[in-house]
Amino acid sequence: MRIVLLGAPGSGKGTQAKMIAQKYKVPQISTGDILRAAVAEKTEIGKKVSAIIDAGELVSDDIVIDAVTDRLRANESRRGFVLDGFPRNIPQAQELDTRLGWLGRPLQLVLQFALDNEIVIKRVTGRLSCGECGAIYNRHFSRPNRPGVCDKCGSKQLSHRADDNEKTVRARLQTYDQDTAPLSAYYKAQHKLRTIQAGGEVEQIFSVICEVVDMEIRPLEKKVTTPKSVRPQAVSTKPATNKKSEKKAAEKPTTATVKKATKKVTKKAAAKTVAKKVVKKAASKVAKKAAAKKAAKKRPGKKR
Ligand code: AMP
Repeated sequence: MRIVLLGAPGSGKGTQAKMIAQKYKVPQISTGDILRAAVAEKTEIGKKVSAIIDAGELVSDDIVIDAVTDRLRANESRRGFVLDGFPRNIPQAQELDTRLGWLGRPLQLVLQFALDNEIVIKRVTGRLSCGECGAIYNRHFSRPNRPGVCDKCGSKQLSHRADDNEKTVRARLQTYDQDTAPLSAYYKAQHKLRTIQAGGEVEQIFSVICEVVDMEIRPLEKKVTTPKSVRPQAVSTKPATNKKSEKKAAEKPTTATVKKATKKVTKKAAAKTVAKKVVKKAASKVAKKAAAKKAAKKRPGKKR
């Protein structure tokens, strides 16, 4: 399965992405998690993006696109993936389509999480996450059984994200409306968008998601599964090892290539027609000569 979760911060994408990843055995690729890890490890990229994340703005497309591409190419993504927090704007979505096209593995489904902004703010400002296993809790709605201790792994590293304060959340919502919301029209045009009402209980939302996934993706996967014997040998789903060969192998024919091929075919057809005409003309000449000979033979008194 190859899906994208689209939704404002706090709409529950992260929680559902984890559950989907576990059930369908595909990796969750979260650009937010990747960037936060870079910040925590104080890498070059981490240093670059730290202030941008704190301000609730989007980091540069190049950084996230490269990070996601590495993960998409990795072996763990062979069975598919669930993208969480990426793409966040139209250029990212276009780049994702292009790169998945090169890999011969286009997106199958985009789930858009719909939720009222005020609930989003309450959810985000109360959010706690486990630094050990990534489990998510909420001070208002779903506290851990023992305060400060993760129910899932027992770790005491439950923490509140630095960018989960009201000021940053409002900025992130504004960024979402401006840059990310237009993606719904983009994916609607591709007939891949489904809306999930994200205001209910986590388990209930998850069961709706599973229904949609099973209905939209599973039959599609069955339909496109062809017996081994008829599978084209030249098409490989393996990620290519070098960028150039990967591009070349999976690229669609360019307009120039198509034009060239069409010209070749037209030329060949024209040559064939000319050849046919020549043969026809020659045949008619021979026939005419033969008829004239016959007529001359029949004419009485005519000496030869
Ligand atoms: P998230 O955890 O998805 O809410 O992301 C946290 C922050 O990371 C965002 O507010 C952005 O600053 C940054 N970020 C995450 N994903 C992206 C992306 N696809 N493009 C640009 N910035 C991103």
